[in-house]
Amino acid sequence: MTATLIDGLALSKKLRADVATRAAALTARGHQPGLAVVLVGDNPASEVYVRNKIKACEDNDLHSSYDRYPAELSEADLLKRIDELNNDPKINGILVQLPLPKHIDSHKVIEAIAPEKDVDGFHVANAGALMTGQALFRPCTPYGVMKMFEEYNIPLEGANAVVIGRSNIVGKPMALLLLEKGATVTICHSKTRDLAKHTLDADIVVAAVGKRNVLTADMIKPGATVIDVGMNRDDNGKLCGDVDFAGLKDKAGFITPVPGGVGPMTITMLLVNTIEAAERAAGV
Ligand code: NAP
Repeated sequence: MTATLIDGLALSKKLRADVATRAAALTARGHQPGLAVVLVGDNPASEVYVRNKIKACEDNDLHSSYDRYPAELSEADLLKRIDELNNDPKINGILVQLPLPKHIDSHKVIEAIAPEKDVDGFHVANAGALMTGQALFRPCTPYGVMKMFEEYNIPLEGANAVVIGRSNIVGKPMALLLLEKGATVTICHSKTRDLAKHTLDADIVVAAVGKRNVLTADMIKPGATVIDVGMNRDDNGKLCGDVDFAGLKDKAGFITPVPGGVGPMTITMLLVNTIEAAERAAGV
């Protein structure tokens, strides 16, 4: 292996220690930071994500509340609960776990969250603020990737960056954050004609697709930084990413593993966003 492994677990640990310190300082001033997590239905993957988020709060001195509702919950009742959380001074961040059951309009639900408590950064006000370079919250996954570039001193200014995937929660905000730091950004997606043509010219490739082996060694230039956001299962049911890690690790300059790369950073940045919201609310 020639590439340097970007260790998301180690960086998460470091950032969470900082979160715990800031949480303790706020608590000492009578403003313990609080995150409200809302889950509707019984999607097993969502249950795991939610459990991990609540545990992360508990481990780092954040107050958390957990609302768990059956899949039949009406949209009106969910909106009513969000309104209560918007007005609860103990709650600084509200996270509604997606996906929601089909009868609930998730767009409407996200828009009901007060923008200053929208720690996922999905509200249109926050998406717009990010686009105009005045972000209040950065969506957790791309924010975590930006922390990785910072930690490993990976230069962004002037770099050619290719983001594969254009979702509202990963691809698009990732591209905006890279652009903000002076990278020349190309966004690729399922309609891109020749993906390799773009990735071969890239200093940085971020894969956020949800399909295995989207990026292989013949598609990058030597020394490129490869960030793998994808979460998939291989033929043996083992967690794997979007990129061919085995092939790329001998050609890339930096690479994130799956697991242990971007995944842990996403929850960590949720804590960071909650702390930032709590500090703003407390006037720190
Ligand atoms: P998504 O909404 O399904 O978006 C996937 C994107 O990939 C779309 O823009 C799609 O293009 C594009 N795409 C599909 N096939 C492609 C191909 N063959 N070549 C190039 N682009 C292709 O997914 P998401 O929510 O952004 O998540 C992406 C992956 O990241 C998933 O595996 C998800 O589980 C994972 N994820 C991980 C974390 C973490 O913490 N590690 C957090 C969030 C998401 P079109 O727009 O044209 O359809």
